[in-house]
Amino acid sequence: MRQQTIRKAVSLEGVGLHSGKRVKVTLSPGPADSGIVFRAGAGGEPIPAAPESVVDSHYATTLGHNGSRIQTVEHLMAAAAGLSIDNLDVVVDGSEIPAMDGSAKPFVALLATAGRTTQGARRRPITITQPLHVGGGNRWLQIVPAAQFRISYTLDNDHPAIGMQALSCVPTEQSFIEDYAPARTYGFLKDLGIMRKHGLALGGSLDNAIVVGKRGTLNGLRYRDEFVRHKVLDLIGDLALLGRPLLGHVIARNAGHALNFELVVAVQRALGLERRPAGATLRLAPVREAVSDSFTPAPAPATI
Ligand SMILES: [Zn+2]
Repeated sequence: MRQQTIRKAVSLEGVGLHSGKRVKVTLSPGPADSGIVFRAGAGGEPIPAAPESVVDSHYATTLGHNGSRIQTVEHLMAAAAGLSIDNLDVVVDGSEIPAMDGSAKPFVALLATAGRTTQGARRRPITITQPLHVGGGNRWLQIVPAAQFRISYTLDNDHPAIGMQALSCVPTEQSFIEDYAPARTYGFLKDLGIMRKHGLALGGSLDNAIVVGKRGTLNGLRYRDEFVRHKVLDLIGDLALLGRPLLGHVIARNAGHALNFELVVAVQRALGLERRPAGATLRLAPVREAVSDSFTPAPAPATI
């Protein structure tokens, strides 16, 4: 299989989920073997979408380089991976990818309008040859050798609106578009205060997240098991940091961005691909009790 990029530049605008700021993102074709490269502003330093660029994986995946940062890259990354787009130049006129509707659907639609083109270089999948495991207790991720990329995910949460949700899938482009890209992020109303205190979820609303209140969700669901589907979407987006398709079976239980990133690093180490410079610091999120990519957006007052 050969690498792909988009045919023409396309843009979209929206509000950053955590920053609450309005931002514009422009996607342009990228050269073969360049991978996905982010830039804060057209003249900004390139920030490759690679494990070495991850500076934070608490609540969202944040990439950075020499002081410039781009937050919440995971849904755009998932959309590119889902449509098998290897090379992309992403310019953001701010520091966060807009939340849009909380899913990857708007990014899939944007990439579809840009069209796709095949490039000269070959895609080089990563073959998993030994089982790898990260996490512990009831929050873990593992990957085992398999002939194709498969995800088996179990999410269980005490909240009755979520409960136990499990699925196993071999994502194809069509199933990604129909079954996973539209699944929205979610958060708990009770976490709102602490998140806002930390400058998170400032742009959250019922328009860009499923909000889980005491008695249930405050907005309707797109799928009965939308929560676990979104976890699969996040996992696809975070695994795309490897920059190459993965041949292996990923088995997940209650993971989040921090654990997803730990698995990415474990795969890199197993392959001897790690390029993180010695002494580089990495801020990994502590494992939380709540679903780790959750945030609590502001509900419309009338709906509380
Ligand atoms: Zn997400």
